[in-house]
Parts: sequence; structure tokens; C-alpha cells
Amino acid sequence: MGLSKWTDPYGLVQKGDDKLSGKPGIIIIGAGIAGVHAAESLRKEGFRGRIVLMDRDGQMPYDRPPLSKEWLTGEMDSASLLLRDPAVYEKLDIDLKLDVDVTSIDPVRKTIDTKDGSSYEWDKLLLATGSGLRTLSIAGDDLQGIFYLRGMTDAAAIKQHMQHVKEAVIIGAGFIGAELASSLKQLGINVTIVERSSYPMEKIVGREISAYFLDLHHRNGVNVITDDSVAQFNGDTMVGEGVTVEGRRIPCQVVMIGVGVTPNTEVSLPHLEIDGGYVVDQYGETSIPGIYAAGDCTVWPYNEVPIHVEHWDHSLNHAKTVAQNMVNPQSAPYSYTPYFWSDQHGSRFQYFGHTQQWSKTVLRGSFESDTFTNFYLDDQNIVQAAFLCNQPKNALPVRRMIKHQKAIDPEVLADERVALKKAVWSQ
Ligand SMILES: Cc1cc2nc3c(=O)[nH]c(=O)nc-3n(C[C@H](O)[C@H](O)[C@H](O)COP(=O)(O)OP(=O)(O)OC[C@H]3O[C@@H](n4cnc5c(N)ncnc54)[C@H](O)[C@@H]3O)c2cc1C
Repeated sequence: MGLSKWTDPYGLVQKGDDKLSGKPGIIIIGAGIAGVHAAESLRKEGFRGRIVLMDRDGQMPYDRPPLSKEWLTGEMDSASLLLRDPAVYEKLDIDLKLDVDVTSIDPVRKTIDTKDGSSYEWDKLLLATGSGLRTLSIAGDDLQGIFYLRGMTDAAAIKQHMQHVKEAVIIGAGFIGAELASSLKQLGINVTIVERSSYPMEKIVGREISAYFLDLHHRNGVNVITDDSVAQFNGDTMVGEGVTVEGRRIPCQVVMIGVGVTPNTEVSLPHLEIDGGYVVDQYGETSIPGIYAAGDCTVWPYNEVPIHVEHWDHSLNHAKTVAQNMVNPQSAPYSYTPYFWSDQHGSRFQYFGHTQQWSKTVLRGSFESDTFTNFYLDDQNIVQAAFLCNQPKNALPVRRMIKHQKAIDPEVLADERVALKKAVWSQ
């Protein structure tokens, strides 16, 4: 891949100590799923030096996926959101520092600076800064009742506001928007999604699956408007309606905007390669020796091609592998198959692999039964990705297929009478 290693004019490699023991140790910026798992894995790998885990958020590290699903609908309590019991950090001697915003890195002094004027030393640094919200600028968007959702504070504000809401507008039919629509519907709220494209998420799942999603929402009573976007919000102090470019007026007491995220790479420095995320090699090391990155904030080599994903499972597994490499340099190349899931209207969707250019798709099962697996094949009939709807039993053979990269007869794939694991091994 295109990661050009810095030639190390400051002699950082020599200064660093691979088997760290005393201070200053390792600093991790970001205590999301990646940061927390990296800290824990450093200990599991036998690292006995100092670990400082920092986050600009003031909350104990928590999980994000339930915020649009079971936490919002009240099926999960707040305590269950915590990634770890607070006692775990103490037990593992992880120095958790919350409300600390890292503003800059000095690779020569090997320090980081924070917004409150403090400075911390490191021997090795892990950037686990995750993603930040993409925002829109729409007339009237300063009215109350208009929300984005990334963290606990957003989610708590949304939940509080929803108590008096009958009608909601969701902008964007991506995974977060679609999950919010499903959760709000479950709470008895009338939901309209406004989506500017004809087929949401078509680039990821293809037109057929995108159309399936639209149909699923319609069947569950969600009003989905495509090929249109909200141009203005009206209201007194509180939002009362959204007006679209096509002139539709949609009454609402709450608006949620879910138009994607971008990697948090504001903490940067010369020679640190950033190209749609911190660019890392297969060991998670950036272009600057001793500085690593993991999770949502990275661009990493998948089958030797640099990719960027924003998935919980990747962040967790990537962080574990990168931590291994921080303790024992270049010992564990990352070779995980990307995976994400989504829950909507009682269905579980799972996506394995990564491709945006497939030659054909093969459907096993049927849309009508809401039970199917859709395979994405390249021109040599090699499965590059698969989308599973309510078929968790297919997860393992699908992972194997994607890992082994062997051609499979599309007719065999489509034939439900042939067990999938047989299809994997019979080729
Ligand atoms: C509502 C919601 C639902 C989701 N549902 C799913 C799902 O169903 N399936 C799925 O696969 N994925 C889902 N995701 C995505 C998944 O949660 C992310 O991929 C995952 O959280 C990324 O983990 P991370 O640790 O890499 O980054 P993050 O979770 O973004 O954590 C990064 C942390 O770094 C901190 N930080 C950033 N910059 C600084 C700085 N300069 N100084 C100090 N701290 C800093 C941030 O405050 C943040 O806490 C969902 C996300 C959201 C928001």
C-alpha cells in the first residue's frame, strides 16, 4: 500500500524502547472501543509500563451501538452501556484520564499537549480517535429539537426530548438513520425519513438490497421520501416542520440528522500521513515510527488495498492486534475480515468483507421471507462480501469463503439444498 515510512530524521526509532518497562510508557488518545481494548490488550501482551488512556469525553468509556437501538427504546439501562466496570481500569493499572482533549503531538520531545495546557510524555503513542459527525447547514437548524447522534450526551438529550414527541423527521437513510427510524417506530412515533438519493447505501449493499431496505421500512409504517432533502426547518423556538426542496411540508417535533461521519484526524503533524484517516501498515504503525493508530480513525491495508471502515468489530479487533505490535513490533499482521451488523424492525443484518465493485450478486433465500444471504462476487466468481438478513448460521462459512478467496459456482451458492459449508470446501 501507499504508506511511505518517514525516514526518521530525529532518530526516534533509536530513542524508543520496544519492551517498555518504566515511565513514560504508552499514551492512548481516545477511550472508545479501540482505545479500551488496546489498553487491555497491552496488559494481556505482558506490557508492564505505564498506560495512560485519555478521552475528551467526560463519561466512563461506553459502547455506542446501543444508543440508536436498545438503549433508546429503553430495553437496555445506562449501566449496561459501560465498556468495562470502572474497577477494571484500576485493576489493570490503566490511568484513565477523562475530559482531556489532546491538541498536538511533538514527535521530537515525544510529548502530547492538551487543551488545558498540560503536557504528557510517551514512548509509544496510539491514536484511537474514532469518528466525528458530518453536519449539515440548513435554514432554521438552530431551533430546539434538532439532533445528531454520536455519543451519550446526544443520546440522553434525544431521549429526554422524545417524551413529548408524536412525529419525527430523520434526515439520511444510512444505517444510523434507519436504526433510529426503527427504534422511534417501536416507541409509537410517526417517522418520516428524507433521503436525497434514490437508493440509500447502494454503494455498499447494491441496488437490490437498498430497495429491500426501503420496502422493509414501508412495510413497518415508516414514510420514506427519496430524491429529496430538507431545505428549511420552521418553528417558534421548537422545530415544528421540515420543508423539503420539492416543497413537501412535514410536521415534526423532533429531527435527527444522520448523514455520516468522518475520521477524527485533527491531531496531526508533519510527516504523519493522513489520507481519509491515519494511514497505517499491517501492524497498525503510522508513517512515524512509534506512533500507531487503530479503529475508525484509520486507513489500513485489506488484501493490500488501503480501506477505511467505521465498524465496531473492526475497531475492537484492530486495536487488539495493534497493541500486540506495540509490545512486540511487527509480530502480528492484521488480517481480519471486516464485519458490521445492524438491527432494524426486528431483523438482524450482517455484512462481511469489503467491496464496492462487484461483477455479480447471487441471492440465496428470498426477500419475501426476510431470510437471505446476498453474495457479492468478482469477475472470477470469488466471493468478496456478503450481506446476511436473519441468517446468522451463514456467518462462519461466509467468513471462510471471503478469507479463502477461491472461485465458487454461483449456482451452488444460490442453491439452498447445498449446505454453504459444503459449497466452501467443494471447490
Ligand atoms: C449510534 C451508533 C450506532 C452504531 N451502531 C453500530 C452497529 O450496529 N454496528 C457497527 O458495526 N457499528 C456501529 N456503530 C459504529 C461503531 O460504534 C464505531 O465503529 C466504533 O465506536 C468506533 O470505535 P473507535 O474506538 O474506533 O472510535 P470512537 O468510538 O469514535 O471513539 C473515539 C474516542 O476518541 C475520543 N477522541 C477523539 N479525539 C480526541 C482528542 N483529540 N483528545 C481526546 N480524545 C479524543 C472521542 O471522544 C471518542 O470517545 C455505531 C455508532 C453509533 C454512533
